[in-house]
Amino acid sequence: MKIPCKLIKDLLPLYIDDVCSDESRKLIVEHLSECEDCKSELAAMQNELPVDIYRQNFRDTQAVKNLSKNWKKGMLKSLIKGAIITLIVIAAIAFILFFIADFRIVPRGM
Ligand SMILES: [Zn+2]
Repeated sequence: MKIPCKLIKDLLPLYIDDVCSDESRKLIVEHLSECEDCKSELAAMQNELPVDIYRQNFRDTQAVKNLSKNWKKGMLKSLIKGAIITLIVIAAIAFILFFIADFRIVPRGM
């Protein structure tokens, strides 16, 4: 074995992502054919990566599901309250703006 395993293991992520040069790829493939240790390392990496992404997505999906569940159960009332308050605030702002606009228009008109 010419290339140290440490170097190969450093290159394995690049090899998996398919971003290493053809020369590095050749060296890695050559090394892997002779080295069981690095081969199992590669297999572990290839298995880990998609699973991790899947787990991450699963966790995110669960978080969203839990969130929407909470919204449906307990937060609905406060959501309605919030919506009503927001509507009142918007109505108040519209009312004020209407009067400001009215005050501006009236002197101009007269
Ligand atoms: Zn090795």
